[in-house]
Parts: sequence; C-alpha cells; structure tokens
Amino acid sequence: MYDCIIVGAGPSGGTAAYHLAKQGRSVLILEKESLPRYKPCGGGVSPAIAQWFDFDFSPVISVKADSLRFTWNLGDPVEAKIATIEPVWMVRRDIFDHFIVQQGQKQGAELRDNTEVTGIEFQSDYWQVNTTNGSVKGRYLIAADGVKGPMAKWLGFKRP
Ligand SMILES: Cc1cc2nc3c(=O)[nH]c(=O)nc-3n(C[C@H](O)[C@H](O)[C@H](O)COP(=O)(O)OP(=O)(O)OC[C@H]3O[C@@H](n4cnc5c(N)ncnc54)[C@H](O)[C@@H]3O)c2cc1C
Repeated sequence: MYDCIIVGAGPSGGTAAYHLAKQGRSVLILEKESLPRYKPCGGGVSPAIAQWFDFDFSPVISVKADSLRFTWNLGDPVEAKIATIEPVWMVRRDIFDHFIVQQGQKQGAELRDNTEVTGIEFQSDYWQVNTTNGSVKGRYLIAADGVKGPMAKWLGFKRP
C-alpha cells in the first residue's frame, strides 16, 4: 500500500513525486511510456518555476534565451526581446521531464515506466490502480496523465 500513486511522469507527476517523497511519503509513479520519453513541445520554461524546487535545473537547460527571431522560409527576420526579468529556459522535454522524476527517485519515489494505467477503482478507503503490469494500491491518487490521459474522465470530471 503506497501513500500516493501518481499516474504520469511529466513535469506534474515528477514534481508531485519529488515533494511527496521528500516529505517521507511512499510514492509510486506509473508511466505508460519508457523514460526518457519524447514529448512534442516548444521547450520554453519560465525560470519562475525555480522557486518551487530546491535543486539546480542547470544540467537540463539547453540555452537561456532573452530574444526571439521569427523568419519566413529562413528570410525576412523579425527579432524581439523577451520582456521578462530573467531569460527563458529552453529545454528538451525528454531530458527535462526525466530529470525531475530522477530527483523524485533520489528522494525515494518508485518509478514503473512501460506501465499503462488501464483503470481505477475506489475500494472504501484506498485506490486500486489497474495497469498492464498488474494492480497496485494507494491511499491517495494523483492524476498527472496530461491533457490526453484518461484519468479526468474516469474520475468523473465534466470539464477537461
Ligand atoms: C506542441 C506543444 C508545444 C508546447 N510548448 C510548450 C512550451 O514551450 N512551454 C510550456 O511550458 N508548455 C508547452 N506545452 C504544454 C506542455 O507540454 C504541457 O503543459 C505539459 O506537458 C503538461 O505537463 P503534465 O505533467 O501535466 O502532462 P504531460 O507532460 O502530458 O505528461 C503526462 C504523462 O502521463 C502519461 N500517461 C498518459 N496516460 C497514461 C496512462 N493511462 N497510464 C500511464 N501513464 C499515462 C503520458 O505518457 C505522459 O508522460 C506545449 C504543448 C504542445 C502540445
């Protein structure tokens, strides 16, 4: 029986795992893909997120950008300064997301990737989470399965 089962190993799931494990909770992350997994994304991350973490993100920041350059067929460039206090971090999501999960693992969180959640059942005082690799139990459940994940529907949320 885990204190918390987290479905999804993106930034939301990894962050939840990190903070819960750091507080001494037993945490299991279930991820259907194999990590590091590819994620289509622009890769721009606000440096403001640093306030919510006590570890250094510099190993996974590819570049810090303070301006943007738009082109049409690599011509007709338009350049703009980004009006933020600090430059925007550019990251590769496979590396960035995996890094956060690894910080959680260092705090004791357990990861099972290649494990798709196929259903959830509330059993009076715990959640039974069914996966392609068997069932697991947790007192709390975090749906961090992203915008395309099935959890919101299973939990009965009307709005996405
Ligand atoms: C084209 C594009 C460009 C973007 N560019 C930016 C950008 O530049 N900057 C920015 O901040 N945001 C950007 N975003 C948004 C950003 O990708 C999301 O806000 C972010 O990924 C949400 O994180 P998350 O952890 O909630 O979910 P996700 O990152 O989607 O992670 C969810 C995880 O859950 C897993 N999962 C799903 N279903 C199951 C299941 N049944 N069982 C087990 N695991 C499951 C998935 O495999 C996935 O790993 C972009 C999005 C797109 C589509």
